[in-house]
Amino acid sequence: MGDHAPGGRDEIAPPSDDEAAPDQDAIEAGRVLFAHECRFVASAATEDSLPSDDVPEVAFIGRSNVGKSSLVNALTGRSTLARVSNTPGRTRLINFFALPGLMLVDLPGYGFAVAPKDEQRRWHDLVPRYLRGRAGLKRALVLIDARRGLLKGDREVMGLLDDAAVSYQIVLTKIDKLPMAALGPAIDELSRELAQHVAAHPHIHVTSAQKSLGLDILRASLAELAGPAASR
Ligand code: GDP
Repeated sequence: MGDHAPGGRDEIAPPSDDEAAPDQDAIEAGRVLFAHECRFVASAATEDSLPSDDVPEVAFIGRSNVGKSSLVNALTGRSTLARVSNTPGRTRLINFFALPGLMLVDLPGYGFAVAPKDEQRRWHDLVPRYLRGRAGLKRALVLIDARRGLLKGDREVMGLLDDAAVSYQIVLTKIDKLPMAALGPAIDELSRELAQHVAAHPHIHVTSAQKSLGLDILRASLAELAGPAASR
């Protein structure tokens, strides 16, 4: 696998580390994009109820409790997203939020070891189908708790993304909880593992929603994936 992509999706980008140090224009583009209202569009429980995918999409995926709602909230600076996505019944759905030229997609959390069987089945029915069939999906952000590193469920998701030829990128969350000295070795270890994954982006984002760390760089990298409406 690796030299092809399913219908309509862009080829997986070659390794580049421009994202490690975006210039001021890129940071500003990210700030402007995320200053817009982020509008709730739809929740989908089945493949048939997914909204159209004619706008570039970025999907957020991670274990339950990884800090996904907090991160999306911190990125957009509004609490509506977390409120919608954490509404009882909606946590297991795919929730779509629109910025101009970019759809943010909140995928249901996983945690295979503890979830009830029917919940696991629902996740497996919905998420892989979404990932495989989405022409507009530019990138998946795989959120990893900085203190815990990669766990079994995360590796399963990365395998799923490799198989579906969806370009993905690791975002470390809650780095405020990690001692400074532990960050470098944690990133090195992750990078070594990522190098073995064909669809993994080499740059790892390092964030804290609570301390607002790494958010401007992440916004800048997401703005680069946005379609033309973002510059209007
Ligand atoms: P989700 O289940 O992935 O949506 O996770 P939440 O965003 O609900 O966060 C789970 C827990 O982690 C909550 O108690 C948050 O307050 C906490 N949390 C989220 N982000 C951070 C962070 O950047 N730093 C710290 N210290 N805690 C965080």
